[in-house]
Amino acid sequence: MKKLLTGDEAVARGAWEAGVKYASAYPGTPSTEILENLALYKGDIIAEWGTNEKVAMETAIGASIAGARSICAQKHVGLNVAADPLFTHAYTGVNGGMVVVTADEPGQHSSQNEQDNRNYAKHAKVPMVEPATSQESKDMVKVALEVSEAFDTPVLFRMTTRVCHSKGIVECGERIEVGIKPYVKNVRKNIPVPANAIPMRVRVEERTEKLKVYTENTPLNFAEMNGEEIGIIASGVCYSYAKEVFGESASYLKLGFTYPLPVGKIKDFCAKVKKIYVIEENDPYIEDQVRMLGFDCFGKNLFPFNGEMTPDVIRRAVFGKACETIETDGSKVVGRPPTLCAGCPHRGFFYEIGKRKNVAIAGDIGCYTLAFTEPRADR
Ligand code: SF4
Repeated sequence: MKKLLTGDEAVARGAWEAGVKYASAYPGTPSTEILENLALYKGDIIAEWGTNEKVAMETAIGASIAGARSICAQKHVGLNVAADPLFTHAYTGVNGGMVVVTADEPGQHSSQNEQDNRNYAKHAKVPMVEPATSQESKDMVKVALEVSEAFDTPVLFRMTTRVCHSKGIVECGERIEVGIKPYVKNVRKNIPVPANAIPMRVRVEERTEKLKVYTENTPLNFAEMNGEEIGIIASGVCYSYAKEVFGESASYLKLGFTYPLPVGKIKDFCAKVKKIYVIEENDPYIEDQVRMLGFDCFGKNLFPFNGEMTPDVIRRAVFGKACETIETDGSKVVGRPPTLCAGCPHRGFFYEIGKRKNVAIAGDIGCYTLAFTEPRADR
């Protein structure tokens, strides 16, 4: 059965098909629709908003410990809030498989920063997958849950705005019922007091060594050879962008399992091509690895360090010319600055505060930062 799904919808579908029983999230663009769609599978999946990302992460961890496959989702900055339980859960590991979705925002369309959460995988020492399409967003949830259970670890599932919100045709399947694993009391595994956490620390390193073997063999990392002149290494949506620009004129190393990176596959690929481009948004996460392996490449010395790596940006950087676009008259476009929703409960608070002049307000992250704008009659 084929469906037209956004990446977020596909993640929800993938979780349902893979037998997930518990889902939690804290809303934030571009991740919000994941839980909204998981909630549609009422009866099969318990889907709950957390009061914040840490609570969402902890309830999903609880479900995993209890033996259910679980998923939790948040935007990139939300993972900062949830980092504390994630880092410890990386040590204690899972019972039922657990996937942690981070929806990153290159370009900061709806975010206060552009942090690259691929670094969290390395920092927390948990495996990471990066889908490029809606189909992969669905399929990789199942793979991530299998990796989670096979290697006793939560798995980071890194998406970006264009993967979350773009629609693509997805071949869907049926739900597999994996059941709930029995909970066995095991304080050595689940209580990370120093006496237990010290051996856990060693097991995490041993696990990473095993994952280094896995990442070399998984079909999520593959090469497409179209010649020796140009080789492009990319993950996520950048792979699709690169293909749009270079087509069959370049070879590709497409990375879908990106922590640990497949060092052997990268070396093999780089040795086969004359000119290497590493196309990635945000940090030089892959580029640093390529350079550490002794290969020169075009990366952040050619492409912008910030913003989205759209086909237009890539074409300008490599070929010095933009994509052909339709001419528009920008003066006729009505400005649509972001604003609080019509019924937002923060409005009343800010209305009252606004009556008192010269008041400086220190706030948390979130929609209510929009209160800094002048009130306007037409909004
Ligand atoms: S603007 Fe207010 S009502 Fe709208 S999403 Fe943000 S907090 Fe909720």
